[in-house]
Amino acid sequence: MKESGYKHLYGLVPSRRLGRSLGIDLVPFKTCTYDCVYCQLGRTTKRTIQRKEYVPIEEIVLELEEKLAGIDAPDYISLAGSGEPTLNSGIGSLIRKIKDMTKIPVAVLTNGSLLWLREVQDALDAADLVLPSLDAGSDALFRQVNRPHRSLWFAQMVDGIAGFTKRFQGEIWLEVFLLAGVTAIPADAQKIAAMVERIGPARTQINTVTRPPTETYASPVPFDQLRKLKDLFPGHVEIISEAEWPGTTWGLKDETNTENILALLRRRPCTSGDVAKGLGIHALAILKHLDALTQEGQVAITRIDGQTFYTATGTNAKKDSHT
Ligand code: SF4
Repeated sequence: MKESGYKHLYGLVPSRRLGRSLGIDLVPFKTCTYDCVYCQLGRTTKRTIQRKEYVPIEEIVLELEEKLAGIDAPDYISLAGSGEPTLNSGIGSLIRKIKDMTKIPVAVLTNGSLLWLREVQDALDAADLVLPSLDAGSDALFRQVNRPHRSLWFAQMVDGIAGFTKRFQGEIWLEVFLLAGVTAIPADAQKIAAMVERIGPARTQINTVTRPPTETYASPVPFDQLRKLKDLFPGHVEIISEAEWPGTTWGLKDETNTENILALLRRRPCTSGDVAKGLGIHALAILKHLDALTQEGQVAITRIDGQTFYTATGTNAKKDSHT
């Protein structure tokens, strides 16, 4: 059973970009067009470009009606989750149904890889905010960082994001995820900046590794360096890594099951996926809890056989702050 009995909803979770966000997961865990080296959810288990109704839209709508009746309105309803949401062929119909149901704005967090498809552009037209990603300025780095499905091409992906940005009536906030020694090199960041110029998003949001990545060599860019690289980008640019946004673990109190997480981690080291499965809480919500516990020193991170494990440290000085 998932968090509070919901199979497809998670949160409210605190989001650095979207405030209090109610998440909807439209695909099974790690069903994605990419297998990013920095992904916080681990390796992609199903890398595909096949669009279909992976999760029944009617089920989501029923859950959403029930959830919204019992909570204060979130800042956004976010279509995101544990893979690429535009792979769900019902995403357009879901957005229209949400718009009929509530005035809460709808945001779509997408890697942007399918925006060159006319049907995906049509589907996202009714959203209020679309947040695509652009993590490389060349096909070679696109393949190195995002490890896309073999039928996806860099130029096609950029054309798709640029084309959709031109027609979309809402706002586009473009995320650029930089990696130390890979894309956080001025010459490569400049290539990304040239693509950003062409796309013309309302905002560019620069991010880097803040949680254990899939591959250990995906390293964070120091904040000072991010500040310098930021100046290379055109338009409205902001840095959204944790260093710029301290205290984003707020808002967990009503969702938390901290004692259960710690009890599990006291018994044995677990991956975030193990904790999510063990407690029936969505993986992304679990990551928020683990962030808070790691910051407080109650949980430590170790890498074993290429996987990230969390263990309880026995420190509980701030335990009450999340219960
Ligand atoms: S696009 Fe997102 S979900 Fe897919 S592999 Fe990359 S970071 Fe993970």
